[in-house]
Amino acid sequence: MAITHRKDTRQVRIGNVVVGGRDEVVIQSMTTTKTHDVEATVNEINRLEEAGCQIVRVACPDERAANAIPEIKKQINIPLVVDIHFNYKLALMAIEGGADKIRINPGNIGKRERVEEVVNAAKEKGIPIRIGVNAGSLERHILEKYGYPTADGMVESALHHIQILEELDFHDIVVSLKASDVNLAIEAYEKAAEHISYPIHLGITESGTLFAGSIKSAAGMGAILSKGIGSTMRISLSADPVEEVKVAKELLKTFGLASNAATLIACPTCGRIEIDLISIANEVEEYISTIKAPIKVAVLGCAVNGPGEAREADIGIAGARGEGLLFRHGEIIRKVPEEIMVDELKKEVDKIAEEYFEQ
Ligand code: SF4
Repeated sequence: MAITHRKDTRQVRIGNVVVGGRDEVVIQSMTTTKTHDVEATVNEINRLEEAGCQIVRVACPDERAANAIPEIKKQINIPLVVDIHFNYKLALMAIEGGADKIRINPGNIGKRERVEEVVNAAKEKGIPIRIGVNAGSLERHILEKYGYPTADGMVESALHHIQILEELDFHDIVVSLKASDVNLAIEAYEKAAEHISYPIHLGITESGTLFAGSIKSAAGMGAILSKGIGSTMRISLSADPVEEVKVAKELLKTFGLASNAATLIACPTCGRIEIDLISIANEVEEYISTIKAPIKVAVLGCAVNGPGEAREADIGIAGARGEGLLFRHGEIIRKVPEEIMVDELKKEVDKIAEEYFEQ
C-alpha cells in the first residue's frame, strides 16, 4: 500500500528545485571539505550530484568560506545552501555570493536591524531560509521552561524563529527539527507537522557510522516518512557524504518517494540457486545507482517462482542452468547465455530508462 504523503505544505523554490507541496522528498547532503577550498568542495559536490544529491549544503564558518561561495556556485549544477551560525555578515555575504538558500536561525542573529537586513537580502534575491532547530542547542528560555530538550520545546523553538520571519513578511521558509535521539526526533516532527505548514526538512543528527547510522536514520526517518511527513531530507553519517545520498535514495525508494532512482529487487538466495547471485546483484546495484529513472530491476537466483514473484519489476534476470532468463513484468522474454546475461540486462535497463524519459 502506498503511503499518503503530506502535500498540503507551502512550496518553496531552492534554485531550480521545488521543495514541498508534492509527493516527493528531495535529497540533500552536506560537504565535508573546507568550503574555502573551492576545488575540493566542487569535486565533492560533483560526486554528490552524480550519486543523486539534489541540493547540497556547505558550512560557512568564516569569511574565507563566504568569499568562496560565488566561485563554487559558478562551477556546480545543483542548488547550493549555505549554513551559517549566528553571523549575519556571513549570511549577507552568502546571499550576495549566490546562495540558493541559507540556513540560519533568525532568533540567533541578534539585533532586530541585523535580522531585517538578512531577511530583506534574502527577499530581494528570492531565496528561502531554513530554520534549523537542534535538540542539543535549544534556546535557554525554552530549556528553562521544559527542563530538558523535549519535542514541545523543539516545536516552540521552531515557531519562535518562524514568527520572527513572518513578522517581516517572509514566508519562504523550510524547517528542520533534528535530534540524535530517534524517539525525540519522531515526536518532534509529528508535532511540527501539526503546527507548521512550511516544508519540513528531515534529519536525525549524529546518527553514527555508515552501518549503524544508516540503520538509526532509516528507523527514525522511516517512521516519520511513513506518516507522510517530510519534503526534503539529509541522512547524516560519519562517512563519505556520497554514502548519505545512497542511503537516502534507498530509504525513499522504499516509500515510493524517489522520482530519480532505480530500485533493485534481489532474491535472498536458497539451495535452488543456479548463478553467482550475490556478485551479480552487487554489480547490477552498482550499475543502476546512476540511473535517474524510477524503474525496478530484479535479479533472481533461479527461475522457479522468481519471475512471477518479481512481477513488479520492469526488467529482470533469473538464473537457469548455464543461461539466464530475461523477464519483463513477470513474463519471460528471452534466454541468454550465462556469460552475457548481465550485459544483456544492463542494455535492457538502459533501454527502459530511455523509454521512461521519452514518455
Ligand atoms: Fe531460491 Fe530461486 Fe527464490 Fe532465489 S528465486 S530464493 S534461488 S527459489
